[in-house]
Amino acid sequence: MNQSIPVNRNWVLFTDLDGTLLDARTYSFASAAKALHFLSGRNIPVIPCTSKTFEETASICNEAELNGPFIIENGSAVCIPQNYFTVFPDKTVKRKTYRIITLGRAYADILEFFDRLKTEFKISARGFHEMDTKEIQNLTGLDNVRAQTAKERGYSEPFIILNGKALPDAVFRSAGQEGFKILKGNRFYHLLGNTDKGKAVRVLRELFEQNISADLKTIGIGDSPNDWAMLQEVDRPVVVRRTDGSYAEGLSGEFIHHTAGIGPLGWQEAVFEIIKE
Ligand SMILES: [Mg+2]
Repeated sequence: MNQSIPVNRNWVLFTDLDGTLLDARTYSFASAAKALHFLSGRNIPVIPCTSKTFEETASICNEAELNGPFIIENGSAVCIPQNYFTVFPDKTVKRKTYRIITLGRAYADILEFFDRLKTEFKISARGFHEMDTKEIQNLTGLDNVRAQTAKERGYSEPFIILNGKALPDAVFRSAGQEGFKILKGNRFYHLLGNTDKGKAVRVLRELFEQNISADLKTIGIGDSPNDWAMLQEVDRPVVVRRTDGSYAEGLSGEFIHHTAGIGPLGWQEAVFEIIKE
């Protein structure tokens, strides 16, 4: 790191989950446990910002003892515990004990457009709604329950290309023209509304500024191209190393901290380097 910033209570950390806080193969955050403990002891919020669904993310937050907001389906919705802030935006919907700010589009619209894309561009793609739990398990290595909750989509469709070819540029353009977006994650492409992790981080950062402190400092940690928008919104962007030793293409720039450690180990390393005692 170029310089260290002394610890203060106004840090907020936004983080991708798969391959970043969670090990790419085992989905465990054990290698980052010390850093998580360090952050919770200082009341520094750790905000998952993920392509996962509401149920998947809520369950991971529960396991990792993260009690704050989280961002789901690649920036499609911001989920905030109902008593977390005093000031909320007008338009929120209630879900369990959370208030949800919706930035994406309804799942039905997403699926309708997915079918149109497949027909118009003759793409052999297969989305989560066409897969059973077993197939999702085979593709992801998730256990049965997690694979089931991964199918409970609200705003976005992960998909694979069956012939292994890259998705043509024209498909990305067509999505943009129709008010949708296609993002590339670790394992899947994701079709969603015109939003991304960056937009959701901005919305949540503004709420933290209104409710907690106008002098907020933000960290963002990711491992994939779909994290780029999030990394651009934070003061200290971090890219963790992948299991093959590489860093995701396109996530470069002098201002980005690249970790030596892989996944959650790199996550932990970055936290201790950036937030000094
Ligand atoms: Mg990832």
